[in-house]
Amino acid sequence: MSTITVINPATGQADAHWDYSTDAHITDALDRADSAYREWRTWSLAERTQVLRNFAALVEERREEIAEVISREMGKRFADAKGELQYAIDIPRYYADNAEEFLADEARESNTGGRAVVRKFSTGVILGVMPWNYPYYQVVRFAIPNLAAGNTVIVKHASQNPESAELIEKLFLEAGLPDGAYINLRPSHAQVETIIADPRVQGVSVTGSEAAGSAIAATAGKHLKKVLLELGGSDPYLVLDTDDMASVAFHCAKARISNSGQSCNGGKRFIVLDALYDDFVEQFTEQLTAFTPGDPFAEDAGFGPLSSAAAAQELAEQVEDATSKGATLRQGETGDGQGAFFPASVLTDVTPEMRAYSEELFGPVAVVHRARDIAHAVDLANESRFGLGAAVFHRDLAVAEEVANRLEVGMVWVNEREGGGPMLPFGGVKASGFGRELGPDGIGEFINRKLIHLPA
Ligand code: NAP
Repeated sequence: MSTITVINPATGQADAHWDYSTDAHITDALDRADSAYREWRTWSLAERTQVLRNFAALVEERREEIAEVISREMGKRFADAKGELQYAIDIPRYYADNAEEFLADEARESNTGGRAVVRKFSTGVILGVMPWNYPYYQVVRFAIPNLAAGNTVIVKHASQNPESAELIEKLFLEAGLPDGAYINLRPSHAQVETIIADPRVQGVSVTGSEAAGSAIAATAGKHLKKVLLELGGSDPYLVLDTDDMASVAFHCAKARISNSGQSCNGGKRFIVLDALYDDFVEQFTEQLTAFTPGDPFAEDAGFGPLSSAAAAQELAEQVEDATSKGATLRQGETGDGQGAFFPASVLTDVTPEMRAYSEELFGPVAVVHRARDIAHAVDLANESRFGLGAAVFHRDLAVAEEVANRLEVGMVWVNEREGGGPMLPFGGVKASGFGRELGPDGIGEFINRKLIHLPA
């Protein structure tokens, strides 16, 4: 069987080689995850949530060491990797504090006059297929609510970050999870299908591209397994009214450059009213292109490399397609080194026949559109196959809220860039997926909400 080679995106050098899981590993993992489930679900909620608290404490204690692996494997700035880990501390603590309330019985009215209660039960082994862009946040967002509810998890992390993937498993075991309650595997895509097909696996949660979501959801459908999809986005930021363009441009530039432009819900399309357009383009371009790519471990790096040379090549092709068809490009410094660096860039005059009009740009490239009026801005925002997040800038909050109501997305931020927290539901509509993570919604996705009806 071939091996996984991890290329450090900042240097272009092969850093490590890992074996894929064998078929025997997969069989063993399914056995262990199922037998762990039978034990784990009998633990009291207080015992389970203590493990989550222990996990949070371990991440807090070992933050520097963990962040170093993240930055080396996928290229985000070391400071940002440490920042990402705050989620891996806050999310377990949030579910430890709130799981009792979220899993409590719900009394229901009954048409027969009897007593009806919806009681929440775990369901079994859940598979998580995870991306490299937030190697800890995404996994924790999936695994923690499931573990709190009494499910066990098998995780197929991205091939980009096998070392992070293995370290997460070690931290969970050290935190006190029984063997088999969290299992990290390195399966091929074909082996993912084998895992989903196993009758002991009750569902699959995917965070990744549309292609991965579609392929895995098809398999899940074939085997009648529930699927949750957190896929790509091309989030519109609507700039409709402001008396502080510098601040709006700042929020927008930060939204685009965050995680080197590789966030599913980063601001990607900036839709600006005609009267504000020139000022926005000038100030936004100045602020965005001031970010310079560099070594993720250098304190002065504005942002890191993209995850791989292939990702940088794909983005270059999307930009080239736009400029060859008449788009205007403004770019910042390219950065040096052998890595997968890409300059912060702004594309204007983008039209529907260009790839940049409809595709997700997964890197530091912003598209700015001009809108005639608010109705046109909303139309442009909704003219996308994606529907993950959005932001609206308007001084009148009533107008902003009314615009937010009309956007076909799962999350809208008003007068600020996105900034999720453990208590806020995360997810999208359209090709951005379905289902919600985090908050009370997140723990409800893979449980059995069983009706128990007692006679009057
Ligand atoms: P990706 O290629 O889809 O990879 C994500 C995961 O899916 C990886 O573990 C990958 O494994 C696996 N995978 C891909 N195709 C598969 C298949 N046919 N069968 C089984 N597993 C498969 O995505 P990516 O390029 O790493 O991540 C970027 C995308 O994820 C962007 O579109 C981004 O917007 C989206 N994303 C969405 C969210 C959200 O919450 N909505 C969050 C983060 C990222 P290998 O690595 O082994 O190929």
